Amino acid sequence: MIIGAGAAGLFCAVECGKRGRSVVLLEHTGTVGNKIRISGGGACNFTNRFLDGTHYVSSNPHFARSALARFTPQDMTALLERHKIRIVERRWGQLFTGDGAEGIVKMFQDECARANVEIRPHCRILAVSKRESFEVATSQGRFESGSLVIATGGLAMPKIGATPLGYQLARQFGMNVIEPVPALVPLLWSENDKKHFGDLSGVAFDTIVRCGRHRYRENILFTHRGLSGPAVLQISSHWKEGQAISIDLLPERDIYRDMMIHRTEKTEMSTFLSTYLPKRFARKWCGLHFPSKPMSRISEREFGSAAERLHDWPVTPRKKDGYGAAEVTGGGVDTDDVSSKTMESKKVPGLYLVGEVLDVTGELGGYNLQWAWSSGWAAGQFA
Ligand SMILES: Cc1cc2nc3c(=O)[nH]c(=O)nc-3n(C[C@H](O)[C@H](O)[C@H](O)COP(=O)(O)OP(=O)(O)OC[C@H]3O[C@@H](n4cnc5c(N)ncnc54)[C@H](O)[C@@H]3O)c2cc1C
Repeated sequence: MIIGAGAAGLFCAVECGKRGRSVVLLEHTGTVGNKIRISGGGACNFTNRFLDGTHYVSSNPHFARSALARFTPQDMTALLERHKIRIVERRWGQLFTGDGAEGIVKMFQDECARANVEIRPHCRILAVSKRESFEVATSQGRFESGSLVIATGGLAMPKIGATPLGYQLARQFGMNVIEPVPALVPLLWSENDKKHFGDLSGVAFDTIVRCGRHRYRENILFTHRGLSGPAVLQISSHWKEGQAISIDLLPERDIYRDMMIHRTEKTEMSTFLSTYLPKRFARKWCGLHFPSKPMSRISEREFGSAAERLHDWPVTPRKKDGYGAAEVTGGGVDTDDVSSKTMESKKVPGLYLVGEVLDVTGELGGYNLQWAWSSGWAAGQFA
């Protein structure tokens, strides 16, 4: 019995079915693979060519490595090729489907049919218990099996089916759950910053965003509510409330040197900066941090402090946005309680956990889906 027909549950079901196991996949929404369908803006960034363990956040950073090494991005790519799904590589090794995510969902539906997996959509889970075997009471009757796989995912995007059932079941069976938090999520403005930057919605540009020892070189995107864009989503997995993030607004450019070249000109600083940054942002930033005067009347010290701030602009967000805007969930079922080889609970024989419900959070770029495939595959060899 597998609860949750998402990326990890589907993969696990196919692998179990291929071993001749009799498999039922219980899903409470009306369809399978809902998140696969919307992933990567509908193109599904299904893996990353440069995958290694460093792209994951977990209380136990080594846990994911075993499964990721046994079912790799190359294995996933080969599977898609066998199904004639076109693959497109974008920057930083991110692999997408060429003709849309639906192709991957269809691939799983075909593989499930071939492996005799029984899929039960609209199936509400009412209670789960274990005596000799596991018993699951559902809106479609009772099911019984020696192995139960929890593949219910995290809490991101509740409107397409996310629920806390996986965490509740893990706790029910005596497993530890590390507090789930929204991850890969926008960061919201403080009241003060919202007044200043809330109207820059839509402005986006390349930056380096830092928090502690973590740094990401990517776009930031201004929204009415806060900062988003890939660099901010990535840093959100490391950011804790109260911390400041630092943004290098002009990566790889020595702006002080450029200021010195133009220091005798009559142009205003905001006009000068508009050649490097979006005009709306340059105006706003100068209005806040710099007196309006021609470059020729600015002292070297003033240039120095402006340059410093441009390369290290501190922003203290109020909090993370919620699960409705998050791509994944940080935290989850404690991997100390789970075998990294089989994904079986160390406390409850026959109980397996796969995918995002576990305390394994990937970076943006195909890492989360690869974790779902790899962990689903690993459990599928044993469950
Ligand atoms: C908008 C968006 C875009 C994304 N894009 C990408 C991307 O391009 N690349 C990438 O690597 N990752 C991406 N992700 C993350 C990725 O989709 C997830 O990490 C991955 O789907 C997790 O797989 P999973 O099987 O663990 O969980 P899910 O795919 O979420 O599957 C869980 C399943 O369990 C079902 N379920 C939940 N509760 C119950 C219940 N009580 N009873 C029965 N069934 C239940 C759900 O309906 C769902 O079908 C994206 C996420 C979002 C939200």
